Amino acid sequence: MVYPGWTVPMKDPNLVRKELLPIKDVLAHVRFTPKELSAQSHPEAMKLIAGDLINVTSLKLQTFKENGTRCRICGAKGEYFAKEKYSDQPYYHLNLYCLKSEEEVLMTKDHIIPIAKGGRDRLNNFQTLCVDCNKKKASQTKELVKKKHLKAKP
Ligand SMILES: [Zn+2]
Repeated sequence: MVYPGWTVPMKDPNLVRKELLPIKDVLAHVRFTPKELSAQSHPEAMKLIAGDLINVTSLKLQTFKENGTRCRICGAKGEYFAKEKYSDQPYYHLNLYCLKSEEEVLMTKDHIIPIAKGGRDRLNNFQTLCVDCNKKKASQTKELVKKKHLKAKP
């Protein structure tokens, strides 16, 4: 299978990319587990995906499986997973990317209610956002908090 992502230069030079994988192949492996079970303690957590052990219970992968692979704000569609790691990491992880004007853009899990506003690190508080929309949302939230703070002052 040929992906447009192969021709796109990597933004982070420290990230080692091994291969690209189709979304449906990856999501088929993703498992939902109770939050308290870490990758190491849960026998279902680590799965061989195309020859490498991957934690298939990460909240990020669970979010993409539960919430979909499109950005909830701009609608950008996740195109493929990339098997990637930093050289000092023992295991690869899977990053989801969309393409915008031939540029690769990372997809993220976003806290619908930010932690700073009492949101929790739970699957039902996550949504899929591209990193562009995630950053925009984060800066807007910061602005709102600042404004509230200013108003609160006498
Ligand atoms: Zn977006």
